Amino acid sequence: AAPHERWAFHQGEFVRAGDIRLGVGTQGLHYGTGVFEGIRAYAAAEGGDSLLFKAREHYERLHASCRLLRLDLPFGPAELVEVTRELILRNRLLGDVYVRPVVYKQALEPGTPFGVRLSGVSTAVSIVTLPMGDYGKAGGIRCGVSSWRRVPDASLPARGKITGAYANNALAVEEATAAGYDDAIMLNQRGTVAEASTANVFVVGSGSVSTPGPDSDILPGLTRAAVIRLLADQAELTVVERTVQRSELHLADEVFLTGTGCQIVPVTEIDGRPVGDGTPGPVTTLVREAYQRAARGADPVHRHWNTPVGFP
Ligand code: PMP
Repeated sequence: AAPHERWAFHQGEFVRAGDIRLGVGTQGLHYGTGVFEGIRAYAAAEGGDSLLFKAREHYERLHASCRLLRLDLPFGPAELVEVTRELILRNRLLGDVYVRPVVYKQALEPGTPFGVRLSGVSTAVSIVTLPMGDYGKAGGIRCGVSSWRRVPDASLPARGKITGAYANNALAVEEATAAGYDDAIMLNQRGTVAEASTANVFVVGSGSVSTPGPDSDILPGLTRAAVIRLLADQAELTVVERTVQRSELHLADEVFLTGTGCQIVPVTEIDGRPVGDGTPGPVTTLVREAYQRAARGADPVHRHWNTPVGFP
C-alpha cells in the first residue's frame, strides 16, 4: 500500500496514516517535546514470519524517555509490542520492516496560550511502519569528526531519545555531508568521542574493543548492548566501556557503528585518513554476521531477543 494508505496506530486506535490530522499547535512540533524509538523486524532465517528485534527493550527505553519529559504513555511495553505486531500484520509487511513510535506533547488545556513547559500538556502517541531493507554499506563509510558537539546531559538528557535533540544531530550530518563524508562522529563537551549521528561507535585496537561509556553523553543503544553480548559469547572478547579519545579513531585498526537503522556499519575512513588498512576488518565482519544471525532468529543463545510477528 502507498504510505498514506498504510495502517498506523494513533491515540489508541488503528487508522489509515493519511487520515491522521495533527493540529498546527501541537506542542511537540514547536518545542521538540517528544520522544521516539526506531525498531526493526527481520525476515526470519527459516522463512514464513518476521521477528521483532529487542522490541520489549525498545518500548522500555521509550518509557524511560517519556519519564524524562513527563509524558504520560498509557500503554505498557508488552501492550506496545502487541500493537506493533498487529500493525505489521495489518500492513502485510512480511520481511524487513522499520517501526517508528513517537510520543509527544500535544496541547495545553483549552484556552491556555502556548507555554514552554512539561506539566499540564496532554500526550499523544502514534506508531507507523515502513518496509526497510539493509542500508547497503557493507563496504564501509567515510566519517568526519563534527565541529558540533553532542548535547551534554547537563543541557538535555542524552540518554533519552528526545525529538528536539535531533536538531543537534541534523546539524552534524549536514556539516559532514557538505564536506563529502557519509556521516558525522560527534565529540561531547569534554572533547572525547560520543557517537555518530544516529549510531554508537566501537573502536578496535591492539587486540581490544572499546566503546564510549554511559558517561560520555551517548544514547545507550540497544544494538550496542547486543554487540557487547555477541562479542563476549562468540569471540570471548570483553568490550571496554570507557572514555575514547579522538586520536584513538585515527590510530584504530577498525571502527564500526551500531544502530537499529544502520545495523553494523564499518567505518573505513575518518577525517580523510584510512581506518586501519581502509577496508572492513575481521572484528567488524564477525559482528556483522553474528548480528544478522541473532536478528533473524538463527542464534539459539539469543532467541529471547526475537518476538515473532505471527504471520499465518
Ligand atoms: N545514538 C543515537 C543518537 C541514535 O539515534 C541511535 C539510534 N536509535 C543510536 C545511538 C543507536 O541506538 P539503537 O542501537 O538502540 O538503535
